[in-house]
Amino acid sequence: MNKNKNLRPMLFFALIGIIFVSALLFTIAKLTDKNIAPVPIENDTTISKTEYWEDPDGTVAKDIVYDENQSVYKSSFIGEYKSFSINPKVAKISKNGWNLILLNKNNVLPDNYEINLTEIAGSKIKMDADAATYFNKMYIDASREGIILTPFSGYRTVSFQRKLFENKILDIIEEKGVEEAEAVKSAIKSVNVPASSEHNAGLSVDIVSRDDAFSQTEEYAWLCANAQKYGFILRYPEGKEKITGVEFKPYHWRFVGINAANEMNKSGQCLEEYVK
Ligand SMILES: [Zn+2]
Repeated sequence: MNKNKNLRPMLFFALIGIIFVSALLFTIAKLTDKNIAPVPIENDTTISKTEYWEDPDGTVAKDIVYDENQSVYKSSFIGEYKSFSINPKVAKISKNGWNLILLNKNNVLPDNYEINLTEIAGSKIKMDADAATYFNKMYIDASREGIILTPFSGYRTVSFQRKLFENKILDIIEEKGVEEAEAVKSAIKSVNVPASSEHNAGLSVDIVSRDDAFSQTEEYAWLCANAQKYGFILRYPEGKEKITGVEFKPYHWRFVGINAANEMNKSGQCLEEYVK
């Protein structure tokens, strides 16, 4: 009897404790929700979530995960490559800095990220509608100087990115006869993990020329001298491989906005360094 009486106040405090912790967790969940909420961009070419997750051949990717407990979409790629030491978190999207979103093997797009897409000059390729405006201006100005910036790749679905990533792993295993873990490590240096490619966000464009070695072309030289004026940066520069985790890609140009591009151009920082 005595023991039971002593238990009552303890139970009472335990109950208060549980209520307090629940309220705290609820608040944290709400705040987190705010942090990763997609940034609405006013435009008439909004694509629905279903379209966004569709393969080019029309099959809907089966890896959409909805976590009812959190009432936010969680990126289904989180934890997927954990056994290979790739364990990204959902990238933060701040209201003022949608153009500065950092995507790499540590930061992936949330599943509910919505983009307004539009075709860009010189191709049927699509990009984020806001970034496209800047690309088009760059395209026109370059062509006036006799430089043709031919887009080769723009927006990509996440499921298409998955195909690219998995194919790269298979190619490496076949070519080098290495273990899967070794192949994954090597693959992420040239192909981004699904949902971590800037092409998935519609913010990057790959530009090609007739010459194979793009870094030797006049188009590349023009971009290096002028792209920052239009808000574009060379995302994976030579010499920054250890920080970006990706090999030098002379053809991959990322929209970050004119201010940021000018500052990064001046300081020589890559995006990882700049957003820190
Ligand atoms: Zn690219």
